[in-house]
Amino acid sequence: MSAEPTDEDCIFCRIVAGEIPSRTVHETDAVLAFLDANPLAPGHTLVVPKAHHETLADTPEDVASDVLTALYELTPTVERAVDADASNVAFNNGSAAGQEVPHLHGHIVPRFEGDGGNPIHALVGSRPDLSDEELDDIAEGISAELEA
Ligand code: 5GP
Ligand code: ZN
Repeated sequence: MSAEPTDEDCIFCRIVAGEIPSRTVHETDAVLAFLDANPLAPGHTLVVPKAHHETLADTPEDVASDVLTALYELTPTVERAVDADASNVAFNNGSAAGQEVPHLHGHIVPRFEGDGGNPIHALVGSRPDLSDEELDDIAEGISAELEA
């Protein structure tokens, strides 16, 4: 079953439509999971909604929930399948965060003791030096946005 919306120029929509082959590992009405074509580790898996939504902010809550459920189910399964010790599970959520394919996708990157990789804290070049007051303002701003 294909889900709307689709974008004919989108590589992941074309994978969902079966126009581009993929090593699919899991499929539901709402999501597809397949191996990353340029894996960072054995078992590197992508989970995408079948419908074309670019970022989490663009994605309806029920679809986002289906994506997270698939990540929840698949992460330990992938780890077992490749005998991984752990994994990083993450979204590059928007182009400024490094998202190259503008169709929402969660990465499951299996990790192995001594693999030489980094934690998610290595994402940014330098950390901001925020005062307590600035942190309070940010926390209040986020809470206010939620209530808006
Ligand atoms: P992003 O940087 O957008 O978070 O990650 C996009 C991911 O999609 C990359 O890890 C890349 O290797 C993967 N990718 C790009 N094109 C294809 C493709 O045609 N097939 C598959 N299976 N993965 C792809
Ligand atoms: Zn798409």
